[in-house]
Formats: sequence, C-alpha cells, structure tokens
Amino acid sequence: METVLKNYDLGKLNIVTIASHSSLQILRGIKRYGLGTVAVAKPGLGWFYRRFSFIDRVIEVDLSNLEQLANDLVKDNSILIPHGSYVEYVGWRRALSMPIPTFGNRYLIEWEADQRKKMRLLEYAGIPIPKSFNEPALVDRPVIVKLSGAKGGRGYFIAKDAADLASKLSGVNVGDDYIIQEYVIGVPAYYHYFGSKVYDRVELFGMDLRYESNVDGRTFNLTEPTFVVVGNIPVVLRESLLPIVQKYGEDFSRAVSELVPPGMIGPYSLESIIKDDLSIVVFEFSGRIVAGTNVYMGVGSPYSVLYFNEPMDMGERIAHEIVNAAKMGKLNEVLT
Ligand code: AMP
Repeated sequence: METVLKNYDLGKLNIVTIASHSSLQILRGIKRYGLGTVAVAKPGLGWFYRRFSFIDRVIEVDLSNLEQLANDLVKDNSILIPHGSYVEYVGWRRALSMPIPTFGNRYLIEWEADQRKKMRLLEYAGIPIPKSFNEPALVDRPVIVKLSGAKGGRGYFIAKDAADLASKLSGVNVGDDYIIQEYVIGVPAYYHYFGSKVYDRVELFGMDLRYESNVDGRTFNLTEPTFVVVGNIPVVLRESLLPIVQKYGEDFSRAVSELVPPGMIGPYSLESIIKDDLSIVVFEFSGRIVAGTNVYMGVGSPYSVLYFNEPMDMGERIAHEIVNAAKMGKLNEVLT
C-alpha cells in the first residue's frame, strides 16, 4: 500500500465505494470536499446511481470481478471506502487482499466475520458483553443463538429456556457452528464513533436505533423474530449515559490498537442493549461505517457539532479526515 501510495497524485484523489449501504452518504460528503467520486454498482443498478450529480462515474460490474478493476482504479489515485455491503459481497478474505488502498483498518474485517473472535476483542477491551453458554444444558435464562455466517440478524433465533433451546437446536444441522448468548432485555442502541488520526481522538459522532421487521413491526406475537433490519431511527441518549458510551468507544479503540494494528481508523460502531438499570451491554461491533449513520445524511448528527461547531454527516467526516491527512502528509496512516 505504501508503494502504491507513493505514485499517487494527491491533488487528484478519487474515492470509490460499492453502490449500496451508505454509498450515497459517503460520495455526497466526499464531493463536498472536492474529491472525485466513483460508485461501483452491481449489474442492473447503475441507472439509479447515475441519477445523482455528485457521483462522477458509475461503473457497472459483477462484484466477483472487482479485482480486475483494481489496476485502473489505482492508476486513477483511488481510495476504497469499505462498508457493510462491501464486506458482504466480497467477503473478508478478498477484502484483506483487495489491491486498492482502503480507508480504515481492513484487518478488522476478519475479526468481525467470526462471532468468537468478535466477542473476544470486546472482552479484551473490558466492555461488558452478554454471557455466553458453551453447554446448552447450562442455560438458565433467555438466549439468542447466532449461527456463523448469519447476515443482518437472519439466521438467529431465540429460546426462552434450556428446554426450548434443546428443541430448537435439534433443527440445526450437525456441524453448523453457532454461539449461544444471553438475550439481553432492553433497548438496542447503536453508537457511531470516528477514530481520527488527524486529531488523535475518538469522536462520539452519533447513534441510532434499528427498526427490525418482525421485532418492531406489527407482529402481534404471530411469528418468530428474525431481526431483519428494514431501517434506522435517529436517537439522542440521556446525557448521563454519554460518558460511559464515550469510554467504551475509547476502550475499544485501545484494544484494537493492541490486537489489530494499526488500530482504529475512521468510522466504527458498538451495538448495544441498554438495560432497565441503564447499564450497557455490547453484543457486536462494526469496524467500518454502519448504515445507521444514514439517518444524519445531509443534516449531520447532533453530536457532530460538539467537535466541529457545525453539523457533519459521516460521509463528510470521512472526507474531512482524508483531505486533512493528505495535507498533513499522513494519508498512509488512515489507509491499509
Ligand atoms: P446483529 O446481527 O448482531 O447486529 O444482531 C441483530 C439483532 O439481534 C440486533 O439488532 C438485536 O436486536 C438482536 N440481538 C443480537 N444479540 C443480542 C443479545 N445478546 N441480546 C439481545 N438482542 C440481541
């Protein structure tokens, strides 16, 4: 990456992302900072992204061929911004070896893909996590079972006690890997952080609630929840909760610096349940931008004004970091 970057014309940077997830927010923010914008769309989807004048170029390609574009993109001084759909479409192995300088710490994608490693990293950070059960018979409370490879909550199921669990596990294929985790009761809240190399700090940049089809929709207890996210809702927390949310964000960043060099760069998220006693249990992280940041597209999150005295969305925040890192001669520090 360092050698590739040496040949880059920093006055002509292009920012590339996969046309999905948070790409509109990212590319709009990037264009406001004067950089070039490229959307790589799945076949049949390009027409939608061509509707937006802030996207300079839409490339339509089967994403199994993304690597074939790499040479041209690198010649065009491109930086790739990863997001949830990128990780889902290309998978962690390809993401690790994608020959395009990537904003953020791409090595985290591997940790994120593995439920056990993911929980280990949170535990190492000293952040409270749900209790795990290795032995189904020892389950003494409601649990959620997470099959590995489950996406966006699809493939999870809940069981109210050990007997319910035993009956539901009998339907799981032998050899399927899964974790059994305490089902924490409370409000699911997702925190958006930004790890800045330019300012050497962790910013608490926003938060959202998820709206999940048959958890929050009109289900009248008629169906089992599958946790499929259909949208996100902006939220602000009681101010008294902010110090602990900030602390967990910083603890996580420190743990990443120690276990997954070069540490936390750019947007990331901790996903939590806030319990009735107002304690916070974190069940998941995302080491890149989360789609919940889209709720602040164009308007900025209320927390962003605390750092910049003006509202900023996560796309603009990424652009601000890239432009300033380039000016300071430390673009290499925000890319992997
Ligand atoms: P995830 O795919 O890990 O983001 O989880 C999907 C959804 O499952 C979350 O939005 C929560 O509603 C729910 N969930 C996951 N883990 C837990 C847990 N340990 N306790 C309660 N709810 C959970």
